[in-house]
Amino acid sequence: DKKVSILGIPFDNLTRVEFLTRLLERMEANKKTFLVTANPEIVMYAKEDDEYYHLLLNADYIAPDGIGIVRAAKKLGTPIKERVPGFELMLGLLELSNMHKKRVYFIGAKEEVVTQAVKNAEKVWPNLVVAGYHHGYFDHSNNGMIERIKSLEPDLILVAFGFPRQEKWIHQYLETAEHGIAVGVGGSFDVLSG
Ligand code: UDP
Repeated sequence: DKKVSILGIPFDNLTRVEFLTRLLERMEANKKTFLVTANPEIVMYAKEDDEYYHLLLNADYIAPDGIGIVRAAKKLGTPIKERVPGFELMLGLLELSNMHKKRVYFIGAKEEVVTQAVKNAEKVWPNLVVAGYHHGYFDHSNNGMIERIKSLEPDLILVAFGFPRQEKWIHQYLETAEHGIAVGVGGSFDVLSG
C-alpha cells in the first residue's frame, strides 16, 4: 500500500472502514499490531523527540487523526481519502470485538474514569468480552503490568495515557507480547465514561 508522508510520518491512506477491515483480519490471524492514530500535535512532537519518531516508524498502521492531517496531505499534492478520528477507530474496534467475541483490555485514565468507561462499553456492546482494565497511574517502566496483561491474552488493548506515554508503553508491551492489537487512544476513556 502507498503511504502518504507528512513531515516524515508515513500515514496509511485508508478509509475508516478499510482500517477496520484490515485490523479485524489481523485479529483473526493473531498478528500483533501496533496502531497509531496521529493528529497534528503528534506529528509536530515527533520532530522534537527522536526516540518517539522512531517508535512511530515501527507502527504497523498510522491513521490520519484530524482534519489538519487531511489538509496537509492535500497541500503536499498527495491527498488522503478521509480523516480517521482515533475515537471513531476505537468505537469501531469495540464494535468488531463485540461481534467477534474478541478479548479487550482497557488501560489508562483515572480509576473511576476507566471503571465507568468499561461499564458504558458493556451497556453499548452487551457481548463484549472484557479481559480486564486498570487505571493509568502506575510506573509505566514496570514490566509487572505488562506480564499481567499478557497473561490475560487480550486481542485488543486500548491504552489511554496520552501521547507520547501511550506509544512508548505499547512499544514495550509488543516487544514481548505474542498477539493483540494495541492502540493509544489519548483522552478517549474520559469521553466514553461521560
Ligand atoms: N493519563 C494516564 N496516566 C498518566 C497520564 C495521563 O492514564 O500518567 C490519562 C489521563 O487521565 C487522560 C489521558 O491519559 O485520561 C489523556 O491525558 P492528557 O489529557 O493529559 O493527555 P493528552 O490528551 O493531552 O495527550
